[in-house]
Amino acid sequence: MDFNEYQRDAAKYDCFSKPEKLDNLVEAGFLEEVLGLSGETGEVADKIKKIIRDKKGKYSEEDKVEIVKELGDVMWYLAGIARYLDVDLETVARGNLTKLEDRRKRGKIGGSGDNR
Ligand SMILES: [Mg+2]
Repeated sequence: MDFNEYQRDAAKYDCFSKPEKLDNLVEAGFLEEVLGLSGETGEVADKIKKIIRDKKGKYSEEDKVEIVKELGDVMWYLAGIARYLDVDLETVARGNLTKLEDRRKRGKIGGSGDNR
C-alpha cells in the first residue's frame, strides 16, 4: 500500500468527508481532524510515558501493538487533514524527506527552528 492509496481508503471512514478541498478551515470536519490528530499523538505519548514510568522503559510485544494502533490513528488524522487541504500524502512525505535532505547537506539536521 502506498501513501495515496492509504489516504483514499482512510477517507471512507471520515464521517465529515467532502469530495472537494475545504477553502475555509472552520468548515465542518476540519476542526475535528485537527483536534483528533492532537489527541492521538497524545495517546502515543501517554502509552510510552506509562511504559517509562511503570516498566522502567521495558516494553512488551503487547505494548508495541498498542502503540502501533495509536500511530495508525495519528496517520488517519494526518491523511484527513492533508485531504481537506487538497494535498496527497505522497506529497507530504516527499516534501518532508526533501526538507531533511536539504538540512543534512547543509549540516542543519540538529538544532531547532522550522526553516533552518
Ligand atoms: Mg487512538
